[in-house]
Amino acid sequence: MSDMADRNTDAVFVFSPALAGFELSPDHPFKPERARLAFEMCAERGLLTGGGVRIDEFGEPEEGLLETFHTPEYIALLERAESGREVDVEMLHHGLGTAENPVFKGVYTYSKLATTASVRAARAAAAGGSAFNPCGGFHHAHSDRASGFCYINDAVIAILELKRKGLRVAYVDIDAHHGDGVQEAFYDDREILCVSVHESGRTLFPWGGFERETGAGSAGGYNINVPLEPGTDDNAFLFLFSEIVMDALGLFAPEVIVGTFGTDTFATDPLTHLKMTNNGFVDAVAMLRSHFPRIAALGGGGYNIDNAVRGWTLLFAELAGREIAGGYGGALGGVLLGDPSIAGSDLRDMHVYTTGKAQETIRERSETLVEWYRSEIRPVLA
Ligand SMILES: [Zn+2]
Repeated sequence: MSDMADRNTDAVFVFSPALAGFELSPDHPFKPERARLAFEMCAERGLLTGGGVRIDEFGEPEEGLLETFHTPEYIALLERAESGREVDVEMLHHGLGTAENPVFKGVYTYSKLATTASVRAARAAAAGGSAFNPCGGFHHAHSDRASGFCYINDAVIAILELKRKGLRVAYVDIDAHHGDGVQEAFYDDREILCVSVHESGRTLFPWGGFERETGAGSAGGYNINVPLEPGTDDNAFLFLFSEIVMDALGLFAPEVIVGTFGTDTFATDPLTHLKMTNNGFVDAVAMLRSHFPRIAALGGGGYNIDNAVRGWTLLFAELAGREIAGGYGGALGGVLLGDPSIAGSDLRDMHVYTTGKAQETIRERSETLVEWYRSEIRPVLA
């Protein structure tokens, strides 16, 4: 890590009320309002005031950012979709106007605002702090196509912004879904280390992200996928995170990390099959921050709203180096989506562990993955 002497410890919460106010469609599982709820819970817990913390609230999107990654044709289609009324064959061909990526009023503005938020987070990390944009981490979007609730790839654009500044960047993705759009963008670029830990593509969208996808040409070894078995709990996740992700990052030595921190890995997420809780989630963030304090954290998925709000409040507290004060704050409950709750005391979840045969299978598979990493990837990075 270079030049830590002049680094400040600011944690910035990047928040755009306009961005959080959008709705993809009334019954769409992706809810931008999670960003506002997380912001409010952070405020309630006193995390947004006092030394070392700053709110970066902005209204207007910055122009010219989408162009750094997306094709002119795709951007033109997104702009044409802004009215929310028109869907044509060409849009559908680029993933716009489907059930997963509906065209809605303001979709172009929403895309630009989300990108702006993530770039602002990246700039805060470049300046020496850490930052969180809850409405970001749209890791499935391709340069010319919307996919998996993602219209634009703000993570790629944030990484490109940092790369232009001459910083050494690693991308760390612990969302339940494989970060396929980010992988694709940097697949032949050994200057960016991409690590995605996700539920296996055998059981979950986007049906890829296997360990054999290691990067192309001279970038072979610089794309690391850690596919998780359904049922993976905090213990199994933290074992792999520490043995593979932290080890690879230690060898690559990034100056800044861009991360997608989806909470859809949690046991009560309605769309996935992992069994994590916010305890393992925050432990991973703490591990990261202890070695790499300059983090641009993006929200990602999380389809149980209560999980996302509590998880991200704990995430921001960790970035800010704060203890959570106050009593139990689970008033939102899991009831918003009708899911059972894993809420424990205060903002923390109860512990959830996979046992028996499933635990055995997961342990064996995890050990195989670590062996694979040590023999195939580690020698390239070392
Ligand atoms: Zn996800």
